[in-house]
Amino acid sequence: MNDQDVQREAIEPLSRPLTKCRMCKSEDLALYLDLGHTPPADQFRTKEELVLPEVSYPLQVVLCQSCGLSQLNHIVDPRVLYQHDYPYESSTTKTGKIHWDEFAQKVVRRLALPKNSLVVDIGSNVGTLLESFRAEDMRVVGIDPAQNIVDKANAAGVTTYCDFYCMAVAEKVADAHDHASVIVGTNVFAHIDDLEHVMECNARLLGPEGVFIFESPYFQNLVDHLEYDTIYHEHLSYLSLAPVAKFVLRFGFEVFAVEESDIHGGSFRVYIGRQGNHAIDASVTEMLQREEERKLHDLEGLTVFAKRVADNREQLITLIEGLRKEGKKIVGVSAPAKGMTLLNYCGLTTRELAFLTERSTLKIGRFSPGGYIPILPDDALVNEGADYALLLAWNFAPEIIKNTRAFQEKGGKYIIPVPVPKIV
Ligand SMILES: [Zn+2]
Repeated sequence: MNDQDVQREAIEPLSRPLTKCRMCKSEDLALYLDLGHTPPADQFRTKEELVLPEVSYPLQVVLCQSCGLSQLNHIVDPRVLYQHDYPYESSTTKTGKIHWDEFAQKVVRRLALPKNSLVVDIGSNVGTLLESFRAEDMRVVGIDPAQNIVDKANAAGVTTYCDFYCMAVAEKVADAHDHASVIVGTNVFAHIDDLEHVMECNARLLGPEGVFIFESPYFQNLVDHLEYDTIYHEHLSYLSLAPVAKFVLRFGFEVFAVEESDIHGGSFRVYIGRQGNHAIDASVTEMLQREEERKLHDLEGLTVFAKRVADNREQLITLIEGLRKEGKKIVGVSAPAKGMTLLNYCGLTTRELAFLTERSTLKIGRFSPGGYIPILPDDALVNEGADYALLLAWNFAPEIIKNTRAFQEKGGKYIIPVPVPKIV
């Protein structure tokens, strides 16, 4: 084998095209949104790594014309996506804490859970949500695959198993702690390829009245607010209610309630129990009806959305090119994963942006995937100077603008890229 073969051998098994719908197994998949080929959004390289080859994967969304699920048509292996050498820790900000407390209280109240009921969290991280459930007198158990994070959770007294969610761990938890009253998964359901296995594990671990609740970004918000930059390889599915409701029936479960929340640009919380064991709340029929009216599972409606995405790119490129021709210096503020989708889709590199700034010390000193834009500390915005700051975490625009007053005082302006690029 020559070097190229060796490299190909190493790359190919780590990603594969989607051939069937993840939920209903239909092969009737229609491509409607093509964001090009991009490297994984979390692979910030060190200076030494810049000389190594970089692999890009298709970032394209298809509609299953049978059940209506929007999903990526290329699956990158978790070994590639989650190999970065810095750990993630769930947000312990005040807003985060309020959200999780409210989540736990609402669930305990809605399901009228008796004291000491067992709540299991999939992808529990350091145990922030479980601590909120514990404050409601629940017994709690976490499951998370990252050892360093699990050690932290256990040290804080939240019993946590180090594993991916699988049958072996579901059985281990059921044997040691009895059946679960609630299994929660926040921001994990859209990331998992084998959702059938998740439902089989749920069926094993949940008691007869047990409820599986997941919280994920709601696809309707992505479409309405043109949040196309939340599309990246970690997010395999773009969830709406109709496909999920149909999917869980196959496992003897049904959706009996749904709630919406503002977190992550608009999320929904879906309650799933064994068929016939829970009264179906009006929220379910209302949301299903709304999705139907909004053509959320309809190729025609989604093609209009894709056109708006392409228009956004044109407008943003025109705006930035215009400023560049006037000799203006443009930089990017913050380097979230979603910002990488926007930069790579719009083809923005060091030619357009001098640098990105970031608070996280784990990214500072590294380079953005694809465009290799250097990442500097937050204070570079003032110290290095710039005329325009492109806000990549535009959902936090008011907060960022408030926190960078020194930049404005020096005459700096901001570019908010989405839904319509504008200078403020
Ligand atoms: Zn389907």
